Amino acid sequence: MTEINTKSQSDCEIVVAELDPDFKFEIANEPGGENILFCFQCGTCVAVCPVAAKNPEYDPKKIIWMALLGLREKVLSSKAIWLCSTCYSCYIRCPQNVKITSVMSAIQNIATREGHVHSSYEAGLKMLEETGRTVELSEFENQKREKLNCPPIVENAESTKKILNVTRKLKEKIKDKSQGDEK
Ligand code: SF4
Ligand code: SF4
Repeated sequence: MTEINTKSQSDCEIVVAELDPDFKFEIANEPGGENILFCFQCGTCVAVCPVAAKNPEYDPKKIIWMALLGLREKVLSSKAIWLCSTCYSCYIRCPQNVKITSVMSAIQNIATREGHVHSSYEAGLKMLEETGRTVELSEFENQKREKLNCPPIVENAESTKKILNVTRKLKEKIKDKSQGDEK
């Protein structure tokens, strides 16, 4: 996968002939991506982003800027688009209501359809198939729930298996891609 150098926008090499002016509309037509065109590059999102604070390679403002410019391949094939932790810190603070968390998911959905899936998703998918959950369940969680008078969480993979069977194409895409990443 391509690395987006997000240290500064001026570091980004732009080949005009490779720009896709329709990319922003493609994202805007994807569920969750509708408000990308409202971004006026104020930088609030990157200022409050906990991932950007720890990882200088991640900059949601720059990803949106590159998408608006039409750097389609660079954006879709980058690892950076998978780094958003969906914490929603930017979502509630963006003055333009861009809904960056949802925009990032919309970009990830387009990337997935084109086979650009981060290999870490394979582990999550395996766990989902085996347990019906993407996060491991330990006794600790249920002990805490018991203290709060909440019912225990029971692993049940049946319904997720049915969904995964319907979406098997996605699974195959992830497997193919992660095998490609290992080569
Ligand atoms: S906070 Fe909103 S308007 Fe400002 S750069 Fe981020 S997405 Fe764009
Ligand atoms: S939702 Fe994603 S982009 Fe926004 S602040 Fe959280 S990690 Fe950063």
